[in-house]
Formats: sequence, structure tokens, C-alpha cells
Amino acid sequence: MKRLGALLASLLLAGSLTACGGTAAQEMQSIQVFAMDTVMGLRACGGETEAALAAAEDEIYRLDEALSRTREDSAVSRLNSAAGGTPVDVGEELRDLIARALDFSAATDGAFDITLAPVSSAWGFTEDTYRVPEDAELALLLPCVGAEHVHLEEGTAVSLDQGTQIDLGAIAKGYASDRMAAIYQEHGITHGIVDLGGNTWVCGGNLEGEPWQIGIQDPARSAGALAGILEASDAFAVTSGGYQRYYTAPDGTVYQHILDPKTGYPVESDLLSVSILCDNGTMADAYSTALYVMGSAGAQAFWRTHGGFEMILITTAG
Ligand code: AMP
Ligand code: MG
Repeated sequence: MKRLGALLASLLLAGSLTACGGTAAQEMQSIQVFAMDTVMGLRACGGETEAALAAAEDEIYRLDEALSRTREDSAVSRLNSAAGGTPVDVGEELRDLIARALDFSAATDGAFDITLAPVSSAWGFTEDTYRVPEDAELALLLPCVGAEHVHLEEGTAVSLDQGTQIDLGAIAKGYASDRMAAIYQEHGITHGIVDLGGNTWVCGGNLEGEPWQIGIQDPARSAGALAGILEASDAFAVTSGGYQRYYTAPDGTVYQHILDPKTGYPVESDLLSVSILCDNGTMADAYSTALYVMGSAGAQAFWRTHGGFEMILITTAG
């Protein structure tokens, strides 16, 4: 098993301590947060910087709790543990996020699927107890997988069919990055970068007035080795790849954490990673996972049909 931190590692940004504009010259301030199973780095300058970073940190911890399926008291856990068909009031925020996840499932023809939770657990990816499940075990779980088993009920309630459970791991950090962008905006931040472990949002360019540079991990090389650098101001950039998290079985077979909803097996495709660049963090996160499942031909077809984002596909052929 191996976990690599940020894939879209924000490069060290030269001159980050120089003053930035505003009535009183300020310096870029930064914090590090450990949440959602990863190290997160936030930098901000301009506006109410300290208040923005404090609010951002609180919000990350709040979302880590609210969207987790391993914390017993989270709304996601309450939903997952309710008897099949029982509506559970999950609150407006979570219901809206689940509704968006269902839209992403529909748009990606089921490649993006939040109901893989029991299958992911069978492989031990959620609990860090890695194993290769029997085909018969997967065959019992697969009938409960699919967006059609999730029902948006009256008000802010959601229900799941018997045996269905959800996991928002493929979308939670992207949603958190959207929330970070809102908080920065509320506090008048003019320059900043938010790196939520591979889900990056850049705001307003760097202090030299140039775009931020976002390093894209070369998935075939060791952590920190870059395949290239993206330059962006005011954009979300998210990468998904099998190399981020995987398990090597005793016979040497590598099983990676992104699953094909049709088979319940780790995706086998001609892709090593997918990076998505667009103006919405939740969408970037959902699409990076889904397009990885589709493989390069499917991802290109999807991009041509849907548009609204840019992508970098790194194939097994390099
Ligand atoms: P990401 O790193 O955003 O690509 O999300 C990967 C995580 O989402 C995995 O570790 C699983 O918890 C979950 N997952 C795995 N396969 C899928 C899938 N096809 N659709 C949605 N979530 C998935
Ligand atoms: Mg994702």
C-alpha cells in the first residue's frame, strides 16, 4: 500500500513573501492543515488574510467531519446505517452535494459512482485492510451499486435502498475547494493558493503578477517528479490516478483505489492519471475520477461532447 500526498503539488512560489497590494501592504500568509486523510496547504494575501485562513481551517475540519463515512456521528454515516428505504434528514448542504453527485453519475454514464462504498470496503481501501475479494462476494455487492439506489426525498432527506451505502471521497475535497474559494472571496483575498492534497485552487495569480504554477506529478516516477507545469490564475485543478493509492498483493499484482462500477474491480485502462482544469472544484474532482475510469478514448469523447473544462491525460505509453 502506498499513499502519495499532493499530486498537483503546488510548486514553491518564488517571492511569496513580498508585499501585495491593498491599502496596507501585506505579506502572503500560509497555514497547513491535516484533514481528509491528507496534508493541505493554504496561502492568502490581501483583504482580511488572518480571518480568511482561520475561517478556511474551521471549514475544512467541519467538512472533514460532515462528509466522512468513517466517523460514526456524520450525516453520511447516519444515512449509510439507516434501514433500507428510510428517509434520513441529512441537511441541505449534504443533500445538494448528493444531488450533484447523482448528476455527475448521469453525465458520465455511471463512471462516477458514490455507491461503490461497500465494494471499496471489500477491497479494504476505506479501512486500510487490503485484500482481494472473491468474485462471489463482489457479485453480491454489485446489485446495490448504482445511482438508481439513491433517492432524493422530501425537504432535505435522502434514502438509500437496502444494502446501498455512499462514499463522497471522490468529490469531498473538490467541494471543500469550492468552499475555500467562497471564503477567500468573502474576506477580499486577492492572491492565494489552496492545495487540498491534489485538489488545487489558485486565486489571482502570484505576487509578481504572474499566473501561479501548478506542478503535475509524473505518475510513473517518484513523488515530486513532475510531468509538467500548468500556469493558471483563478482556476481549479484536480488530478486522479491509480498511483495515488494502491495495494500490492502477495503475488505482486497491484490493485488501485479507483474502481470500475460495472465490475467492482480496480480500473484497468490505458491511463495513469487525469488532471482536470476548470472553474468549479466539485466538478473538477468528479470528472477527474470519472474520466480516469473511462480511459483515454472515453475521456476524449466526453471532453468533445461536454466541454467546459480542460484536461491532461497521462497514458501508460507516457
Ligand atoms: P479521487 O481521488 O477523487 O479520484 O477519488 C477516489 C476515491 O473515490 C476512492 O479512493 C474511492 O473512495 C472512491 N471511488 C473509487 N472509485 C470510484 C468511482 N468510480 N466513482 C466515484 N468514487 C470512486
Ligand atoms: Mg475525484
